[in-house]
Amino acid sequence: MVYSTDLFPVLKLEELKANCFITPNHCWEWQGTRRKNYAAYTHDGKTFGLHRITCWLAHGEPSEGDNALHSCDNRACINPDHLRWGSQKENVLDAIQRNRRRDCRGERNGRAKINSDVVKAIRAIAGTGPTNMQIAELYGISNQMVSRIILGEAWVSVENR
Ligand SMILES: [Zn+2]
Repeated sequence: MVYSTDLFPVLKLEELKANCFITPNHCWEWQGTRRKNYAAYTHDGKTFGLHRITCWLAHGEPSEGDNALHSCDNRACINPDHLRWGSQKENVLDAIQRNRRRDCRGERNGRAKINSDVVKAIRAIAGTGPTNMQIAELYGISNQMVSRIILGEAWVSVENR
């Protein structure tokens, strides 16, 4: 997705911020439309992830395939200070780090539901550092399931890229 100022001529960070609820953590929670809990912005009949737009406004063009990653874990947040461009692999590694920090604070693990995005992410990070155990804990699934996903025995229909 290539952004251009022609595409979003009117968007200014300060004006977007004005339509947000500011949390004590300085998240800018978008009060407009949401899609899968992400802030959504519709322009010319197309809907865009607004966190990607504020990330672009503040940090410039993403590399191909990059996601706008939240450091705050708050999908509705569009504060560019909480966003950076990164790969899907970094996204998962970040999530593992956060999961570990939660464990240290004795809070309950956030259990992400497994879906095709998760399967792709697991395959993308396989063998790059995190253990199957860490991946399994992150997603609330068994070690065996992680192995089977990586080996392509489970979720066969999800293509690798
Ligand atoms: Zn935030």
